[in-house]
Amino acid sequence: MEEVSRGRIPEAVAIVAKREGIKPAKLTKLVSAGRVVIPMNARREIRPLGIGEFLTTKVNVNIGTSKAFESSESENGKAQAAVEAGSDTIMDLSTGGDLDLIRRNLLAALKVPIGTVPIYQAAINGDLSSERMFNALENQAKDGVDFVTIHVGVNKNSLERLKYSPRIMGIVSRGGSLTMKYIVETDQENPYYDEFDYVLEIAKEHELTLSLGDGLRPGCIEDASDRAKYMEFIMLGELVQKARQAGVQTMVEGPGHMPANDIETSVRAIKHLTDGAPLYLLGPLVTDIAPGYDHITAAIGGVIAGMAGADFLCATTPSEHLDLPTREDVIEGTYVTRIAAHAADLNKMGVKKRAREWDLEMAKARVDLDWERQFRAAINQRLARQIRHRRGVEIDTCTMCSDLCAIRIGRELVKK
Ligand code: SF4
Repeated sequence: MEEVSRGRIPEAVAIVAKREGIKPAKLTKLVSAGRVVIPMNARREIRPLGIGEFLTTKVNVNIGTSKAFESSESENGKAQAAVEAGSDTIMDLSTGGDLDLIRRNLLAALKVPIGTVPIYQAAINGDLSSERMFNALENQAKDGVDFVTIHVGVNKNSLERLKYSPRIMGIVSRGGSLTMKYIVETDQENPYYDEFDYVLEIAKEHELTLSLGDGLRPGCIEDASDRAKYMEFIMLGELVQKARQAGVQTMVEGPGHMPANDIETSVRAIKHLTDGAPLYLLGPLVTDIAPGYDHITAAIGGVIAGMAGADFLCATTPSEHLDLPTREDVIEGTYVTRIAAHAADLNKMGVKKRAREWDLEMAKARVDLDWERQFRAAINQRLARQIRHRRGVEIDTCTMCSDLCAIRIGRELVKK
């Protein structure tokens, strides 16, 4: 941010500009204003990735061990599979096994931006303290992590709002609940909020991007859009301003579970309160009643949110609310979230022209009944190919209408 504010165009900005088809000078202004972030730790050599206004909607995939399943290898395999399926970033949410080793292995293996949630490591032995929270943040930044979620919006003020606006499910964010526990048990303020200047110092030293977490995100439709949530965003907006003044790149995370008709208002309000900071969303999940299909409930919300201005979607898998995702769940969640991101991009300023070219290519391949071109244009080539050939019937149309293929009939009529 400092380089661009001096009028220079850093190499990372030039690379992102080329990748996104945007003028480097325009991207420089967006980075300088904090409306686009390029998460990249000073230690890492990765392909730079931009997140924010006028850029394609990006997708993150979460992986991570738990105390019930501690296999570092399987999480590494899931992360690789997610990147192969097109995930732009990976977040390591591990809470079981050797967390340092898991994180370092991921950083060594992947060339995409990697994010973490340092409070998980700080709380791993159950004795959360301010010192442990800052040690975890600093150690992870030193390891080369590119962005971190810190739940600075969960503090005495927002918890007071929660008290006067009771919820069915209370706090459902893991980091949010750990922070609340610390505040309630010690009667001390959230250290990351209280000493935000120190957080900024660490971030600046390591060129770490901050993702201000939505610790008060609603966990069910009934809890959506309450005063506690908006209080959190008012405070996050103030912290975004502070971070920008300090030259630290910052994103904001958003909710959660939300009825479809609330999403646009919510996204626009968050963007307004945080002065256009890149918005990173989990979901929003538009209903609570579909365990096993929550990658779809999240994708529906993701499209609406993306059209309203969300910049970065976190993949949800079919395991959400049920189990630690398998490798197959991660792959499925990645593709479904990419579809949501692309559907939003078809309407997004600055990117819709290029997004529509992809759909146009598919439409042309379909009207030509050119199956190879259709596979090449498919978001998941392997799946499209497998379904097309699974019955072993090789005809130039497909088995859906067979010789009554509407496309072929229509084409022949046009020729006459
Ligand atoms: S057979 Fe039917 S479904 Fe298949 S390509 Fe032709 S019109 Fe489309």
